Amino acid sequence: MVTAAPQDQWRLLDVQAHDTRLTQLAHRRRTLPEHAEVDRLTGQLTTLGDQFVAARTVVSDIERELVKAEADVEQVRQRVIRDRGRLDAGHGAAKELQAIQHELDSLAQRQSVLEDAELEVMERLEAAQSRVAELEADEERVSAELAEATGRRDRLVAELDDEAGREQQARVNAAAGLSAELLALYEKVREQSGGIGAARLYQRRCEGCRLELNTTDINRIRAAADDAVIRCEECRRILVRTPDSGL
Ligand SMILES: [Zn+2]
Repeated sequence: MVTAAPQDQWRLLDVQAHDTRLTQLAHRRRTLPEHAEVDRLTGQLTTLGDQFVAARTVVSDIERELVKAEADVEQVRQRVIRDRGRLDAGHGAAKELQAIQHELDSLAQRQSVLEDAELEVMERLEAAQSRVAELEADEERVSAELAEATGRRDRLVAELDDEAGREQQARVNAAAGLSAELLALYEKVREQSGGIGAARLYQRRCEGCRLELNTTDINRIRAAADDAVIRCEECRRILVRTPDSGL
């Protein structure tokens, strides 16, 4: 049977209050909405990074296509220049010159088709490049949002850590001088009872489980010595008597 002076039992209620506060602070720190916000933005940034790489690849592919399209057009242009040269020189038979003229006509058609194709590739390149620029802007915006959210989260975490540090010190002060036996019992019960090891007996009610004690229990507690450490019959928590216990 653990015993402790009444004032030590009261101090155990202070220890409990600090422990409860520490649990709340730890929970708050774990569940800050800023954590989810940072995760969400980090995920978004990863997705944007992947999309950016893919968009850059599309641009490179189209750039190669454009080089090819330009070369095709250039080839025809060179041929036109060569044919015109021959035509202007006027060498050869009339039949031959006629054949050259004929080729120039079909080259003009071919050049027109190839230039259209080149234009189409250029348009696609422009669209792909603006997609890259768009993704770059998105990345910049989300990066800034992430930096902001991370800063906000870190500030809140630091504040909670400071508060927890003060609370922890207050807890140490409250527990100083309490017997190891009493603290061990408190810790054991606390572990088994969802974080509440000691509760006040207030107007015949256990503040741990909220149940009102029956007359038999009340009589038993009345008969107990002041330094006896009482347990609630219902929840087994350490029940601390105070002037408001209704005994
Ligand atoms: Zn109880």
